[in-house]
Amino acid sequence: MALGPHVRDDFPLLQRHIHGRRLVYLDSAATSQKPRAVLDALLRYYQESNANVHRGIYRIAEEATAAYEAARATVAAFLGAGRPEEVVFTRGTTEALNLVAATWGRTRVGPGDEIVLTEMEHHSNIVPWQLVAAERGARLRYVPVTDEGRLDLEAFDRLLGPRTRIVAVTHQSNVLGTVNPIPRIAERAHAAGAVVVVDAAQSVPHQPVDVRALGADFLAFSGHKMLGPTGTGGLWARYELLEAMPPYHGGGEMIALVEPDRSTYKAPPHKFEAGTPNIADSIALGAAVDYLRAIGLEAVAAHERELTAYTLERLREVPGVRVLGPLDLRDRGGAISFTMDVAHPHDVAQVLDGEGIAVRAGHHCAQLLHRRFGLAASARASLHLYNTTDDIDALVAGLYLVRRVFGRAPHPAADPR
Ligand code: PMP
Repeated sequence: MALGPHVRDDFPLLQRHIHGRRLVYLDSAATSQKPRAVLDALLRYYQESNANVHRGIYRIAEEATAAYEAARATVAAFLGAGRPEEVVFTRGTTEALNLVAATWGRTRVGPGDEIVLTEMEHHSNIVPWQLVAAERGARLRYVPVTDEGRLDLEAFDRLLGPRTRIVAVTHQSNVLGTVNPIPRIAERAHAAGAVVVVDAAQSVPHQPVDVRALGADFLAFSGHKMLGPTGTGGLWARYELLEAMPPYHGGGEMIALVEPDRSTYKAPPHKFEAGTPNIADSIALGAAVDYLRAIGLEAVAAHERELTAYTLERLREVPGVRVLGPLDLRDRGGAISFTMDVAHPHDVAQVLDGEGIAVRAGHHCAQLLHRRFGLAASARASLHLYNTTDDIDALVAGLYLVRRVFGRAPHPAADPR
């Protein structure tokens, strides 16, 4: 396995033991662990350059501003953005999607207009659009998901029409692992006159992402899932769109001139970054991107593909385990959700925790998707560059333990189908 064992030592938390056992961390879709380089960047900033940005004309304030803007340039280059000013720092994907909904959405969507979403969206790519639709009298339409866990693209084509203003779609499902064909979706959406908002929370950390090649208009991502600190992430958007959008939050730092009744605003991205930004964490996000780039996203993707194949193969041998989502590695990533016939997902997660194994159980902020599969919850193992086949062997041993603990009779609430 190319990466796992070689990079594991870079992650201090992965050296921990839980209940006397080596921690097996399989919840990177929720948040990733952080390499020492990121922790060092945080500490270095606070010890050497802590000052507010874009304000001071003294040495450390200039250092802080330069480091903050350098992090923006690093992230922009990582995403294939045309210029650093196309990246607005936010607290993560949720805030980035809310920003688009509250600015572009509220000003461009009117009564009777349509916003196309998909059944596999995370709640953060549903609820902001529900708020816009309710306020503006617009209608939400959902692209269905097939039994194999892919988007029904023919149904998508049929949903597009003259009233479609926005298509908001996830690049990679946090439940099914499905990687959606964004260029194809964007082409059809643009032909219908809509803009395309991509939720890239689960793709940017795991595969090379080039915003221009995707054909997206807006793309949201979370820094904390890509080895950066919590409270980081951002929105990439085509600069013309950012320029045309009204501000999101009002306050200091985002204005040019304030008068009693109105103000004028700075150019993007500062127009969208009111108040003191998350300086230290954004700088450390830049360090996370440097770390990922040094390894190479192709190598990360190849490692995860190999480990996903291994995981799917090993899970197949455990009786009563049902994996959700596509089994074809060409269109899936390393978020692997499953149910067990003998136990509820929460019980699965609890038994695994006793073995030092961290997996997620619940609806993973995707209730519509779980309902689509007749489920209330699932267990999810999700991979990153530091995971190894040893981690998967531990998971599988843990699932055999679940079978021993809960017996062979299927649990009535485990999987209603
Ligand atoms: N979209 C997807 C696909 C996600 O997996 C997540 C995080 N679970 C989010 C959006 C929300 O990201 P954040 O909590 O970092 O805002």
